[in-house]
Amino acid sequence: MSDCIFCKIAEKKIPSKIVHEDDKTVAFDDVNPQAPTHVLVIPKRHVASLTEMNEVDAGLLGHLMLTGSKVAKLKGIAEGGYRFVINTGRNGGQTVFHLHLHILGGRPMHWPPG
Ligand code: 5GP
Ligand code: ZN
Repeated sequence: MSDCIFCKIAEKKIPSKIVHEDDKTVAFDDVNPQAPTHVLVIPKRHVASLTEMNEVDAGLLGHLMLTGSKVAKLKGIAEGGYRFVINTGRNGGQTVFHLHLHILGGRPMHWPPG
């Protein structure tokens, strides 16, 4: 989508610190990290949020999770543990409407989240 910031990151029209890339996803450091390690994994295809995903997207969603797990290993946080977050919609706190998986680690996480 032409006015989507994460589409532009996926197309390398906006610079980012890319951690991992394959044919379906891009993972890059969050510009405003909330933990020592904070990476976002996005599908290259524009999808506004989890709400727009259907049964046909199960493979892509699974791939997103497995890529997140791979990124956690690459970043050296897998052993200590980490957290996946997908903020969805207004009450979910979503601010960028291109589906993204947050991977947070490098410090203990709190529960419940805010
Ligand atoms: P959300 O609140 O939608 O779940 O998360 C959006 C995330 O995208 C935020 O953590 C924010 O810091 C990050 N973000 C927003 N714009 C940019 C950008 O231009 N580059 C990068 N690397 N991260 C961004
Ligand atoms: Zn997009």
